[in-house]
Amino acid sequence: MYRARSAFKLSQIDQKYRVIPHGGVVVDCGAAPGGWTQVAVAKAQKKGLVVAVDLLPMDPVSGAHCIKGDFMSLKVQNKVKALLGRRKADLVCSDMAPSFMGNHMADHARSMELCESALTFAQTVLATNGCFVAKFLMGGTEVEFRRKLQTMFLKVKQEKPDASRKQSTEGFFVALGYRPIKQSKEE
Ligand code: SAM
Repeated sequence: MYRARSAFKLSQIDQKYRVIPHGGVVVDCGAAPGGWTQVAVAKAQKKGLVVAVDLLPMDPVSGAHCIKGDFMSLKVQNKVKALLGRRKADLVCSDMAPSFMGNHMADHARSMELCESALTFAQTVLATNGCFVAKFLMGGTEVEFRRKLQTMFLKVKQEKPDASRKQSTEGFFVALGYRPIKQSKEE
């Protein structure tokens, strides 16, 4: 049994795009109460590694490492990297949502900041061909974010899984086939 309905959103995205490989490494940002983490652990299985981060405390999910803290802080991101060790991530996913202020454009802006933070982090840990999934609140500037994703990934899709309420303004970016930027020798 999943802890949160939102688990079905990642599950539906994974059924369509196969973003979680067996034995894969997953970083789950904004993980509490743990629905996405459950989906990731079930798919990644024993050889996999799942690291879940949230501002809020969450009950342990068997097979996952849970970190309580602000994903936007470098200290927390370094804890995630320490758990990954030498392994690269196959999926960085973010279901992070801001505390809603009731002002749609402010909520949208904050949601895009969370996406940016997850993407900046993803660039430091994703394996070549890795995937990135991030929830955002529609509002306009997601178009720029999508363009940025298109420079880094082979394929970028915008999804609204059936499990996402029709009336909500949330959407999900699904970016597949990460292409790390090659550093030139002079750098
Ligand atoms: N994916 C979760 C699941 O399936 O159970 C649900 C996530 S809930 C929709 C959004 C979560 O994002 C909240 O638990 C919230 O605390 C977390 N969050 C928001 N901003 C965050 C941040 N800066 N760092 C870590 N977590 C954050």
